[in-house]
Amino acid sequence: MAKKEAPVRYCRFMVDGRSYSGQIRGNSVDIVEGDPFSGIISQIRLSYPVERVKFLPPFAPKKLWCIGRNYVGHVKELEHEIPSEPLVFLKATSSIIGANDFIRIPAWAGTIHYEGELAVVIGKAGKNISEEDAYEHVLGYTIMNDVTARALQNKDGQWTRAKSFDTFGPLGPAILLTKELPKETRVVTRLNGRVGQDGAIEQMIFPIPRLISHISRFAALEEGDIISTGTPQGVGEIKAGDLIEVEIEPIGMLKNICSE
Ligand code: MG
Repeated sequence: MAKKEAPVRYCRFMVDGRSYSGQIRGNSVDIVEGDPFSGIISQIRLSYPVERVKFLPPFAPKKLWCIGRNYVGHVKELEHEIPSEPLVFLKATSSIIGANDFIRIPAWAGTIHYEGELAVVIGKAGKNISEEDAYEHVLGYTIMNDVTARALQNKDGQWTRAKSFDTFGPLGPAILLTKELPKETRVVTRLNGRVGQDGAIEQMIFPIPRLISHISRFAALEEGDIISTGTPQGVGEIKAGDLIEVEIEPIGMLKNICSE
């Protein structure tokens, strides 16, 4: 029997002042042509050690759908009610930065929290998608840090400003090109090396097929949309100088440093 190939980890990166599409393999990044939406041509011409490259966001999402309060532990830590249907909001795509970019924290914004999340990348458009068909619309998965100005979120009563500061949307470093992740996949967030969050995606109140189906009932999902699926228990404050890492094992590690 043929050995099953591991799913591709597609990325965008810069090296020596030029940007490329790439595929991460172990500790190196191979240059590839194309992109996962129109097709990757993996004719390897050149590869670089991971330490030498600067990862960019893996693509420019069309819309950044986010889900609030999707893990029981997190709902409880912020003392909210369990929602009866998915709580959907939009985060401005202009907030997106890549792995290793700085999260800029203005002193006037009050308490800022990290929120490590699994993000679904939509590869096939659709409207009124059934839960049974939902995975057909998935291109793959990436990592999002849904950085949040918690004090302003509470003050404003709606979330646009709190979620959409420039640099509050770290994304990447790669898209794992697979339709479905193992249910024991975990979202692990470390603040200065100490684990803050460690939640299994099977703990989601509304699982991925439900989220895709739910959103597509009121807005057609488009190729290049992202659905960030909510954050597990253990959010916490970040300040200038902090190192924040979100790791989802088969995808990779999204690392950012906070600055003023
Ligand atoms: Mg969130």
